[in-house]
Amino acid sequence: MQFDKELQGIRTVAIAGHIRPDGDSVGACIGLWHYIRDNFPQIQADMWLEKPDEKFSVLSGYERISQAGAKKEAYDLFVAVDCASYDRLGDAAAYFDCAGKTICVDHHISNEGYAGINVIDADASSTCEVLCRMMDPEKISSEAATALYTGIAHDTGVFQYSCTSPDTMRMAAMLMEKGIPCSHILEETFYKKTYRQNQILGKALLESMRILDGRGIVSVVRRKELAFFGVTPVDLDGIVSQLKMTEGVEVAIFLYETDNLEYKVSLRSKDTVDVNEVASYFGGGGHVRAAGVTMKGTFHDIVNNLTLHIEHQLMEQKEQ
Ligand code: AMP
Ligand code: MN
Ligand code: MN
Repeated sequence: MQFDKELQGIRTVAIAGHIRPDGDSVGACIGLWHYIRDNFPQIQADMWLEKPDEKFSVLSGYERISQAGAKKEAYDLFVAVDCASYDRLGDAAAYFDCAGKTICVDHHISNEGYAGINVIDADASSTCEVLCRMMDPEKISSEAATALYTGIAHDTGVFQYSCTSPDTMRMAAMLMEKGIPCSHILEETFYKKTYRQNQILGKALLESMRILDGRGIVSVVRRKELAFFGVTPVDLDGIVSQLKMTEGVEVAIFLYETDNLEYKVSLRSKDTVDVNEVASYFGGGGHVRAAGVTMKGTFHDIVNNLTLHIEHQLMEQKEQ
């Protein structure tokens, strides 16, 4: 599908990503927003997204992201990017509900296709990679390219994770040729950590526990600790990836407390375990090697429930 075609006759567009937006969500929103503004100046395009981390302010257009509020507007077109399910649109769902046409561009294997038109490629590294394919490369400005590159880089762990394909690299190369500040973007949005972020990372690593005979690792951050270290959930980005790097570990589990007896769970696997299957069983979703879910219960009950499923997969694989 080519985006240019879908924009014919459209006067207003709302673009939205998922709640607690990550680099791919932010990059996809800003990249598409620039693409529309640069090439279809007659179209009014707005971005509705939960406030992303300040580090993304290096992307031009960041300041034009708004938080969905009371203002109800019926857009001609609503584009959901990187959002696996309707409920993860957050407040932007109000615009989805009354839009003339809805498109979802995504790469989550758990996405069942909740929009009118769904472009879901579970083999793509990132939504930004899917978006690039839908755009005319000639019409991608350096501002749009910078945002799209950011999304690809974040969802591939800077071209490291197994979702990185030759196509991913070709797209990244095409974007690089637009003369974008790649190193600066990676430094500012991916590698740089605040002192507090490093402190909470250090604490999570120090207190992590090995489970499943060393094939699993788990760590947790509680609300009072968030308060003590003066951090918010966006500051916990990257902890689960660091846990996964532990030698011998196949599955890393990271939890942070969101409410009384409620935790946001992040799951990552290295080679064999399908963590999307585990997260989906408990009502979440994501990808085969990276998934998330919100679960209720005590820390121990949640970890027990998760490990039962992971153990089951590991046993089955052993038998094969
Ligand atoms: P996270 O652990 O939150 O970084 O999420 C890992 C991946 O799974 C990301 O691609 C998320 O978009 C996705 N994900 C996280 N939580 C959910 C959920 N509840 N439903 C569907 N996908 C999710
Ligand atoms: Mn995402
Ligand atoms: Mn993504």
